Amino acid sequence: RVLVGTKVDENHANWITAYNMLTGIRVSVSRTNAKLNRDLTDADFDVKQKSTFDIAGNELVPSAKYDFKFKDYAPWVFRHLRALFRQDPADYLMSLTGKYILSELGSPGKSGSFFYFSRDYKYIIKTIHHAEHKFLRKILKDYYQHVTENPNTLLSQFYGLHRVKTPYGKKIHFVVMNNLFPPHRDIHQTFDLKGSTIGRDYKEEELENNPRATLKDLNWLRRKRHLELGLQKKKLFLDQLKKDVRLLQRLQIMDYSLLIGIHDLQRGNEENLRDKTLRVFNPGGNGSGGQEENEPNSVLMRTPSKLENQRKARELRHMIQTEKPVPMGETSSRMPDELGVGQNRQGFVFNQDDGGFRATHEDDKPADEIYYLGVIDCLTHYGIIKKIEHFWKGLSSDRSQISALPPHEYGERFINFIDGVTMSQEEAFREAQRRDEE
Ligand code: ATP
Ligand code: CA
Ligand code: CA
Repeated sequence: RVLVGTKVDENHANWITAYNMLTGIRVSVSRTNAKLNRDLTDADFDVKQKSTFDIAGNELVPSAKYDFKFKDYAPWVFRHLRALFRQDPADYLMSLTGKYILSELGSPGKSGSFFYFSRDYKYIIKTIHHAEHKFLRKILKDYYQHVTENPNTLLSQFYGLHRVKTPYGKKIHFVVMNNLFPPHRDIHQTFDLKGSTIGRDYKEEELENNPRATLKDLNWLRRKRHLELGLQKKKLFLDQLKKDVRLLQRLQIMDYSLLIGIHDLQRGNEENLRDKTLRVFNPGGNGSGGQEENEPNSVLMRTPSKLENQRKARELRHMIQTEKPVPMGETSSRMPDELGVGQNRQGFVFNQDDGGFRATHEDDKPADEIYYLGVIDCLTHYGIIKKIEHFWKGLSSDRSQISALPPHEYGERFINFIDGVTMSQEEAFREAQRRDEE
């Protein structure tokens, strides 16, 4: 896998923040997971759990390299959510630990959020605005209920909501969520679709310098692209998408998009094979030799080895007995091949084909692409947009220029667009012919 972003190590400007985020996650997640499972109560949705980290540490909080405060929100709700989305607790902690912990994607959006990948690429940490943070807490119960009823939801899967506060009082809110794209497959093309055409164009001439850029609605239309799904898969997909969008409409959310990563099976994993040093398992090359023999085929899906399972059980026992995660030093020396990869997301409809959803012909025969898709950026409440709009309107002379579409219409336009581009190759071909004849 070609490494996206920059590795966050001691020399990186955001190293301390990243370190504090991960230390906080490890301690709070293992603390919650160490307890016996129980049902959720209403009160669980409002819980805030504060920890103070410093070099000395105490009986509740292990020592950390830096001074910071950490807040864990609704820990039991997120424990249940992780279980619902079948995230193995030991794997989760393992992914979010280690020395070469994350790679940073900088700020790909206009929003100013930062994105970090866990070192095995399974998880994304996204810093969010305070307004988004408050909003997620407000809708958490609705979200929880929805995903409980719809385990195959296409919406972002939230695994944790946290905050770090620096000694200077700077607060950083962030969520942990699923990376829609798989660690073990090259994504050859990415689209971020909203169903709008205004400003939804990635400059084609810039593609040359940046071939993996995320393309938008107009680029999609220009390429006459379709989500090629046979009848059965199309129905599964659109039914779920509609249910998810209903929720977003009800919660007055907008500005979300359908993110689609396309793996072209004809091209395969060319980059993965060509440049082994850039594999996600060992993005920094931490000097631990030997993984090459054990990992000759890292591009393929693997099931966990016996050793791996034993190791996981050991880790979990350690966490549960001590209520403490394995110290950082220990995990960073772990061989990359011991990190489970590929087997997450098993058993979900839209991850049934090598972690994704395979393009399909009309006769339900598989086609040559795998789609990795989901609805992202779904924490923008209409009220926030309205506020921003107000601000701009105050500055702009033409007040009619900026007008956010209300959530209901946003959702309808979104569904219509996606519905309109979801068809089998054969159907798309017939439609093109028909259009030519007209
Ligand atoms: P804006 O509000 O300007 O759209 P943002 O900072 O809220 O930006 P997002 O829209 O959430 O950012 O994401 C920006 C890009 O990051 C996406 O287009 C996609 O390329 C990548 N990305 C976001 N979430 C995921 C995810 N769950 N899996 C894979 N890639 C993601
Ligand atoms: Ca977005
Ligand atoms: Ca956003």
